Amino acid sequence: MIEIKTYICGICGAQYNDKIQCERCVNSHKKPVEIVGASYCRTESKHLGYPARVRIKMSNGSVREYNPCREE
Ligand SMILES: [Zn+2]
Repeated sequence: MIEIKTYICGICGAQYNDKIQCERCVNSHKKPVEIVGASYCRTESKHLGYPARVRIKMSNGSVREYNPCREE
C-alpha cells in the first residue's frame, strides 16, 4: 500500500503533491487590503446605484481595478 499526501492551497483550492509547490501557490496570492476608489454610472443605468468599477489596493502595494457588474 502506498500513501499519497495531497496539499491544498487554502486560498484558491489548487491541489499539489509537493508541499513546497503548494506553499508557493499560497504565497503567490495577493490579498485585497483596501478599497481606494470607486466610480459610478448615472442612477438610471443598469447598475442600480452599485459602483461600475472598484479600485482595490493589494497586499503587495499594487492597485487593481475590478468591474463587479461586468457579468450582468
Ligand atoms: Zn493558490
